[in-house]
Amino acid sequence: MTHTNTQTHKSQYNKNRHHSDASDLDVLVVGGGISGLSTAWWLAQSGLHVQVWEKSSQAGGKIKTDTIDGFRTEQAASMIMNFKPEVDQFFTHSGLEALKAKRLLKAENNRYLMNKGQLQPLPMTIARLFFSSMWSTQGKLRLLMEPFISKASKEDETVSEFITRRFGQEFLEKAMEPFIAGTLASDPDFASAQHVIPRLTALEKKFGSITAGIIAHKATGKRTARNPESFSFEGGMSTLPQQLANDPKLGFKANIEVTNIIQHGPHQWEIRAKGPDGEMCYTARHVVISSPSDIAAHLLKSVNQTLSHVLSTVKYTPLSVVHIGLEHSAVDHPLDSAGFLVPRQEKKQGNMTINGNLWMSSIFSDRAPQNCILLSSYIGGSRQPTAIDFSTEENIAYVLQDIAPLLGIKGDPVMGRVNKHQKALPLYHDDYHRKLTVIKQELHNLPGLHLEANYIGGVSIRDRIVSSQKTASVILAHLSLQSKNRRTQTVKKSTPDFNHTFIETHA
Ligand SMILES: Cc1cc2nc3c(=O)[nH]c(=O)nc-3n(C[C@H](O)[C@H](O)[C@H](O)COP(=O)(O)OP(=O)(O)OC[C@H]3O[C@@H](n4cnc5c(N)ncnc54)[C@H](O)[C@@H]3O)c2cc1C
Repeated sequence: MTHTNTQTHKSQYNKNRHHSDASDLDVLVVGGGISGLSTAWWLAQSGLHVQVWEKSSQAGGKIKTDTIDGFRTEQAASMIMNFKPEVDQFFTHSGLEALKAKRLLKAENNRYLMNKGQLQPLPMTIARLFFSSMWSTQGKLRLLMEPFISKASKEDETVSEFITRRFGQEFLEKAMEPFIAGTLASDPDFASAQHVIPRLTALEKKFGSITAGIIAHKATGKRTARNPESFSFEGGMSTLPQQLANDPKLGFKANIEVTNIIQHGPHQWEIRAKGPDGEMCYTARHVVISSPSDIAAHLLKSVNQTLSHVLSTVKYTPLSVVHIGLEHSAVDHPLDSAGFLVPRQEKKQGNMTINGNLWMSSIFSDRAPQNCILLSSYIGGSRQPTAIDFSTEENIAYVLQDIAPLLGIKGDPVMGRVNKHQKALPLYHDDYHRKLTVIKQELHNLPGLHLEANYIGGVSIRDRIVSSQKTASVILAHLSLQSKNRRTQTVKKSTPDFNHTFIETHA
């Protein structure tokens, strides 16, 4: 492998490289967030020679845990919600299964929603929903109409258009909008239905209605989705990227910032970077860019202007996470749930600031010192992007103003911490579908270049792991084919059974 840190060496190196068929690496991954790390993990299972270059000093990107004075807070992602078998496979084979922190039973009992200025338990079954005072008779009857609603005539509906057409306005406002705003910081009036709620749009496409789809799946023994499992890790979410980065097979390298990517031909990529020892330059047959889209746009400027331009137009929304620690005795509410979401109408009527409030110490153990509780709230997102300018004091004051009357908070907080994200999450808004189409078309003409990050294929950690497996499959398929043709053993099958399952599932 060649690793240079002077201009002279680099030029000489490049000269040699351009006339050579060999590459330093099978795959170079740019960015050590969960997208980059999980792509490298899937690839490393097949013995590929891979490296992950991360510009900051530690792995994880958005995933970071702080443990200070006994309060364990998450800067961004607080848990994984999984119902996908490939994600199970990832955790089992990476050894992370043993480090999972399961949700406490206390958090499983109820789900709360703000309704008419109060916290009300959400009806969790269809039967309960029909006896719940939270829903109007008209709203309940409208839900029953779902199987009789015809398919969409418009190709790219928004989430609001899709949900209102199939389930009615009340379902949108009380169920879908708070979920979309609270978990994705997005706005259903602008979000693309096929990219934000793909399972629901797929059921309509295949079966004509969601109800018919669920019944058909049940009748054939094929579940639409298994019961989701939510979990974190011992030591918090940071354990996930740290554990992956510690696996030598992933070739994780911190403090390396990729500065330029140059194409020399199909599957011939040159990657330049700034590392702790100066400038670096490697070649790879495949490059996976797992940075946010604006960085990808910058790196690809000289490779493809159309792709670079469209990547620069992907929208992101700002979001703040506000953590408050309180003595248990200062709160009247039993906190017998994971927390609550605030529908937009309630936010408006109650002049509230938060989008939702997670009762972290009810969900996981080890989140707060003894006799204390930890509550984490989300402020901003598409609902209120300007809220990113609030000071720490303002954020804490707004949270207390919102939650004190709902939870019966009497005392002052013993801890307050704010994590601001200027570019928290990509929004699959407006003409997102068109942008994605252009991205895919341009990538088609750039063999060996892959974009694997949360602006394509879902923002959740679950979706990142699933999507990265697909990217890894494409790379493996190419390298396996190449190795077969050349009768050289590029892909070493160190664990044949596992490999077989992997390729078979996602070929
Ligand atoms: C507030 C908040 C709460 C969330 N809550 C949840 C949750 O509870 N559950 C859930 O599933 N998801 C949650 N998410 C979403 C999820 O955390 C993210 O979508 C996911 O972690 C993004 O991973 P990524 O690898 O695509 O990007 P990132 O995490 O942004 O990683 C990109 C990496 O690329 C690196 N990089 C950038 N430029 C370069 C360069 N030139 N050279 C080298 N490296 C570079 C960056 O330093 C970074 O480490 C939340 C997100 C936010 C913001």
